[in-house]
Parts: sequence; structure tokens; C-alpha cells
Amino acid sequence: ASGYPLLRDPHYNKGLAFTEKEKDAHYLRGLLPPVVVSQELQVKKMMANIRQYQVPLQRYMAMMDLQERNERLFYKLLIDHVEELLPVVYTPTVGEACQKYGSIFRQPQGLFISLKEKGKILEVLKNWPQQKIQVIVVTDGERILGLGDLGCQARHHLLGMGIPVGKLSLYTALGGIRPSACLPVTIDVGTNNEKLLNDEFYIGLRQRRATGKEYAELIDEFMSAVKQTYGEKVLIQFEDFANHNAFDLLAKYGPTHLVFNDDIQGTASVVLAGLIAALKLVGGTLAEHTFLFLGAGEAGTGIAELIALEMSKQTGAPVDETRKKIWMVDSKGLITRSRMEGLQHFKRPWAHEHGPVTNLVDAVKAIKPTVLIGSSGAGRTFTKEVVEAMATFNEKPVVLALSNPTSQSECTAEEAYMWSEGRAIFASGSPFDPVEYDGKVYASGQANNAYIFPGLGLGLIISGAIRVHDDMLLAASEALAAQVTEENLESGLIYPPFSNIRKISAKIAADVAAKAYELGLATRLPQPENLVAYAESCMYSPAYRCYR
Ligand code: NAP
Ligand code: MN
Repeated sequence: ASGYPLLRDPHYNKGLAFTEKEKDAHYLRGLLPPVVVSQELQVKKMMANIRQYQVPLQRYMAMMDLQERNERLFYKLLIDHVEELLPVVYTPTVGEACQKYGSIFRQPQGLFISLKEKGKILEVLKNWPQQKIQVIVVTDGERILGLGDLGCQARHHLLGMGIPVGKLSLYTALGGIRPSACLPVTIDVGTNNEKLLNDEFYIGLRQRRATGKEYAELIDEFMSAVKQTYGEKVLIQFEDFANHNAFDLLAKYGPTHLVFNDDIQGTASVVLAGLIAALKLVGGTLAEHTFLFLGAGEAGTGIAELIALEMSKQTGAPVDETRKKIWMVDSKGLITRSRMEGLQHFKRPWAHEHGPVTNLVDAVKAIKPTVLIGSSGAGRTFTKEVVEAMATFNEKPVVLALSNPTSQSECTAEEAYMWSEGRAIFASGSPFDPVEYDGKVYASGQANNAYIFPGLGLGLIISGAIRVHDDMLLAASEALAAQVTEENLESGLIYPPFSNIRKISAKIAADVAAKAYELGLATRLPQPENLVAYAESCMYSPAYRCYR
């Protein structure tokens, strides 16, 4: 493009950064004011604009506006100010945006595949302007963050950036995947959300969710069409599916496609990394600890399974054995053998021999865990009594409150430190500011999935991996844990600061790729000698290009 359309094309637009030469060569003279500014100055100006807004949602909208106007500047901003902007473009703000701005559609930022497209999905994929796709994030909107069934709104609201779009922009900003290689997809099989069904402005299919054969057939057609169109090396990330589908989809497509579920596997990997780092503070090996989860869904059982696998690798004991160190409480209480009959299949491995326990406090007192993990989506459930109990039989109780958004956190950082007299090792799903207790400042880490999935994705892509293997998740956890410094640990952080995330992603990518080669799952041959350097060299840079 050149001239006016060039300024309207977010992939090429540079705003006031077009040079005099470019203005002449591309028919831009007179369309722009006389100054020529650097991208750095634009970043400074944009940040000043964004900081003027007090309301997170306004900051979010300013970012979305920028993404639609000038893609490279958007990514430059996000990369240069990642700690400040991550919570703006992703959780917790994105959830609020999905809820509030469901129904205004602006321009396509991804594909909608509804039951109406059944039998035509191959054609739908051809309608997308880019054909060299490396990562797809697909959702069916049934369990958005902790917010429940948002139907079609997961994907498109006021400015077009819902969950898959947000996630993919992190693949780009943090993991260096080219924006044009990313494809957001929303599968719409209806919604069971009454409010949406009765909303005259709702833009999704106005029917109850299709299930069973009808659901499975649509997904299956999509999965086949993706492989046929983009080949075997395209990464398909399942995002925010309800757990009654999520585990089955992963099991079904794991053997035939490059699939990854961030809610299950990404969460597991990031939490395991935090635990590996926490052990440096608490002492002991993983297998010497006892774990109790509140919440036995995608996050909880996914984390538990990866911990059990890592224990098994470390000790040589079979996973069946190592699982016995991990206990779960769901909405009905402690998961035990006596409840086996009625349990969903993903809970069954965690049903151990024990008498009935109906609430968390009693479970904590009975199991005496060294590590307590909240993954229920139910806020304020780590009460004073629960945390105090943890602190009575642990010198340094590990307490992870993973539920999002902030309002659903099992407890706040302040509560965790206060109720444990400053002894807790605490991290959470949503970020908390540092806390002062008894004259000391305690930082607390965020178990943010964004530490893992961008680097993992990059590792899969640079090695040309054709399957995701659990050992790659373990490799990613260890790579992340290795980035936590003594200094971080001393201040209470079991995760490294986000400011280094591109470097961290490159390290994770290198170790994941190395694992892919080791397992014979890599197709990019020969293996590059220095994988970290190679990963870094593959990463997308948002710096402006010169147009001649
Ligand atoms: P999910 O699959 O729906 O599972 C939720 C689990 O919590 C179920 O086992 C449910 O019990 C249980 N539960 C719900 N309310 C409860 C209560 N009041 N008391 C005890 N148990 C209760 O959800 P998910 O995908 O695992 O996500 C759960 C939470 O984790 C969400 O808030 C999400 O935001 C958060 N999360 C955080 C991270 C992170 O920090 N990086 C990553 C992923 C998810 P039943 O099975 O009996 O219904
Ligand atoms: Mn998710």
C-alpha cells in the first residue's frame, strides 16, 4: 500500500515516524504534519497518554485502539513496558472488557466458526488473509477465565480483542511469534448463558450449546481442516474450554495434532516452576512435600499431574505412587476412595484412602499439607483459620492463591503474610502489590501463564515439533525456575520479574526445542548448534522497517 491507505493499514503504518524520503516515495506528503519522530518518542508519548487514564478499562481500550492503528508501535509499547501493560491487555482487565463490551463488532480480528459453517470450515480458513499460520488459539467460550459462559463474546467485544486475540498478542510480544502467523478462532456452538440469549444485541448463535455428537463433529471438522490447510506443525492452543470438554479434546487430539491446553498444561508448567523455585526457600525435594488443592478442575488436576510426573522422574517411583502425596478438595469436600463412583474421570487419580472430610479447614488439619494451592475460582476461601493452620505445622507454608480475577483470589497477599506472621511463601494468579508487615516489605510473585506459553510455543515452532510431550512442559518449568535469582527469592518472589520476559522466553524455547530433538519430535533439521541464540534470532522485532 502507499498514500492514504498506507496510513490506514495497521501492519505498515508508522504514524509520525515516516521519514522525509518515505513521505516522497509513498505519496504521504501533506497527509502528515512536518515533524518526523522516532519510535522511542512515540512510545514515550503513548505511555504518557495511557497513564492519564485511571480506569483499567480505558487503558485497555487505548491499547486496542493502538493495535488497530499501528501494530508495531503496539508491540513495541507492550514489550518495553511489559510489567505495566500485561495486566492491561490481558488478565485481569480483559475479562472485564469481555463482560462489558460483548456485542459491538468492529472489524475481523480472527475467525468465527459456528454451527452454520459446518461442512464449510475449509473454505472459512481460506477466507483469512494470511496463509502461513504457526499458532492458532481457539476457544468455544464456555469457561472464560473464571467468568463462565460468555458465548461468542469471549472473542469479540468493543475493540475486537477478546481472549484468543489477547493471548496471541502475548505470543508475539513475549514469545516473538510474528503477528501475521497468529490466528484467533472462536468456535460458536451456542451459549447456555440466559442473559446473552435474551440480549437483543448478542452477536453469537442464539441457541443452547450443542453437545455430544454435534459438538464433536464440528470440532473434528475444524481440526482436520486446520491440518489440511496449515500442515502438521501448526500449534493449536485450546483456550478456556469447560473442563468436561477440555480433557477429552486434549486426549483425543494429542496423538494426531500439535495441541496444547494452556488452562491445563500451561498452568501446570508455570506453577511447577514456582514450586521448584520455592523449594530453594523451604527445603526438601518435591517428593518430600505434601500438597493439598482446593479445586479439582483443569488447573488443579493439571498442576497435580505434572507435579506427580516430576516427582516420578526425580525418584524413579511410578506416577501411581507419587500421586499419593497430592490431595484434592472440590465443592463436595476431600476427594476420597469412597466417592469414586460419582467422580469425573480426571478426578479419579486423586481419590485416596481417607475418611470423609467436607470442608477445607478440616482437610488442612487432617492432611497437614506443606503446600496449599487454590484453583477453585472461589474467592476468600483461604480464611484466617486455614492460613493459620498451615502456619502452625509449617515453618514456611507455601500458599498459592491462583484463582482469577483478583476478586476471586483465595486470599490476598496481605492476608497470607499477616496470618502466617510473614512466614508464608506466597504467589497468586492475579497480581498483588508488595505488602508491608512488621516493618518488612514482602513482594509476591504472580503465577502468570504468560511466563510459559509464549516460550513454549516458540520452542515448538523453531524445532518444527509435531507433538507436545509432557517432558517439554517439565523442561519449560525447569528453565523458568532457573531464571529466579537468589535476590528474587530473598524478597519473597518465586518467579523472576517480567521485565526480562523475552530473554526468559528464549531460554524456555531453547530447552523445549532441545527436548523435542531429544524425543525425536522435531522436524527442523539439522538441529541448530546454539538453541538460545537461534531462538532469539527467530523472534519478531517490533522496530519499524524502512520502506523504499
Ligand atoms: P474448573 O475446571 O471449572 O474447576 C474448578 C474446580 O473448583 C472444580 O473442581 C470445582 O468443584 C471446584 N470448586 C468450585 N467452587 C468451589 C468451592 N467453593 N469450594 C471447593 N471447590 C470448589 O476451573 P479451572 O479451569 O480449573 O480454573 C479454576 C481457577 O483457577 C479459575 O479462577 C482460574 O482463573 C484459575 N486459574 C489460574 C491460573 C494461574 O494462576 N496461572 C491458571 C489457570 C486457571 P466441582 O468439581 O465439585 O464443581
Ligand atoms: Mn485460560
